[in-house]
Amino acid sequence: MYQDNYSKLRPLLSSKIPLFHGKCHDFEILYSPGQVFVVSHQRANRLRYACQRILTSILTSRNQHDTLIDAGISKPIIRAAELICRHSKFIQKQVKARHLTDFQPECLMILHNKGCELACTYCFAHPQNGKRIGFSLDEMATATKLVMKSCFRNKKCMQAVFHGSSEPMAEQALIAEYLPVLEKTASEYGSVAVKTYMATNGIISSDNAHWLSDNIDLVGLSLDGPPDIQNMQRPYRNGRPTSKIVERTGHILAKGPSVLHVRATITPDTNTRQAEIVKYIQNVISPAAIRLEPAFNTNHSKAKWKGRDAKLFVKHFMKARDIAEVPLHSSVCRPHELYSTYCYVKNQTLAIVPGGGVTSCFKRSGIYQPEQSDWHVGMFNYKTMRYSLDTDRISAIRNLCSTFPPSCVNCFNRFHCTLGCPDFCLIEPSEKKDSPAGFLCDVQRYMTLEIILEAAYTLWEEAKRRGISKSCFCRKPLLSPEPGTESEFRELTEL
Ligand code: SF4
Ligand code: SF4
Repeated sequence: MYQDNYSKLRPLLSSKIPLFHGKCHDFEILYSPGQVFVVSHQRANRLRYACQRILTSILTSRNQHDTLIDAGISKPIIRAAELICRHSKFIQKQVKARHLTDFQPECLMILHNKGCELACTYCFAHPQNGKRIGFSLDEMATATKLVMKSCFRNKKCMQAVFHGSSEPMAEQALIAEYLPVLEKTASEYGSVAVKTYMATNGIISSDNAHWLSDNIDLVGLSLDGPPDIQNMQRPYRNGRPTSKIVERTGHILAKGPSVLHVRATITPDTNTRQAEIVKYIQNVISPAAIRLEPAFNTNHSKAKWKGRDAKLFVKHFMKARDIAEVPLHSSVCRPHELYSTYCYVKNQTLAIVPGGGVTSCFKRSGIYQPEQSDWHVGMFNYKTMRYSLDTDRISAIRNLCSTFPPSCVNCFNRFHCTLGCPDFCLIEPSEKKDSPAGFLCDVQRYMTLEIILEAAYTLWEEAKRRGISKSCFCRKPLLSPEPGTESEFRELTEL
């Protein structure tokens, strides 16, 4: 891995503005969230100095331009430093603005709880326990209107997601009744486009698999890999194997009109088999994309990760990516987006659970329970047939999500990371732990660092090929820069 011979990315000046610096053997890196810059050792000192002065001028509102000219810094270096710092400030502003916006849901998450035939070894929802109830069509229709209104106001596409602590297809008849309601509501709001998504465990009849493919835009099928893995990690509750029926569902879905993604959960037992899992899924099912997700370390899960497993996960993920013939993703690595916790209200998602609750936490996605009220942000009133949302609680959760835990304040990955969620909860930190630590933090940091270093080494090789490695200034955008700066950046190739 690139990071085996690499020192850390550290803040260049202050944790207040996200710009990080690191040294490789032949070159140096500046990293501003979503932008990787590579510069030769010969030019690095002066570029770093210029960036530090400009960051100081941003923090103190004192212009440092003359100081840089007096110090003999060339114009191209000053220009490059200005652009880099501007991008860092732009990202910081974007993150702040996102937290300041009100709750304006774009996604309706319908969290079913009607039934699951499996006993997955790492299940966080633990659906085996307790009674199970379903939704009424009225609840779903009312929630749809709420989200649709917000999408209409903000000119957004609405997403309707069928998920839950059980198999949504156990509610196929209800969902079939709901889809025309969704369509009708969309037409009442004129221009709102709708996309539907369902996560399924694949334990469904072939008729239902055809129905699913014909009626849902994107299907996420859970399949953990070759039969020995699938049958060990995702058996029926009586221990019977499931791989055959899930494969059959996968074949039907892959041939049908919906887009199929396969999600494989990786556990400490299968950590080194990621390439084999990807090969199996693409050969046997042929989905449009694959996700490899490490199992959560929850109380119910038998998958207990240790900190040292994180580098191994990244190493084997990269190996799997090398042989993948379709896009391969993992939610532990998001350098292409600005992210934080999975809290639904932070992600502009209205998530409803049976029993009338609106939850903000995917770990509390079962039937509404009053003792979990800290995570509930609304209730359905069965008399008035309306949802009432607790706007104070929603704002409080959104505010909490915008505060970095102490150990994340200086981390280069803090804008692309779940900040420890779900192992560490920002909404209810435990008394013993004030910051994320351990496997999940490590794996997110290592994975993003590997992607940044991969981009940096590719840039450096390219600069060497072009013969400009002494004076180079190369950049790889992992997410869009500030509007209007792309062409300015492109003009700057040598310092
Ligand atoms: S959880 Fe870990 S990787 Fe994520 S921002 Fe915090 S310190 Fe960085
Ligand atoms: S931060 Fe806490 S409340 Fe939010 S999704 Fe994660 S575990 Fe749930």
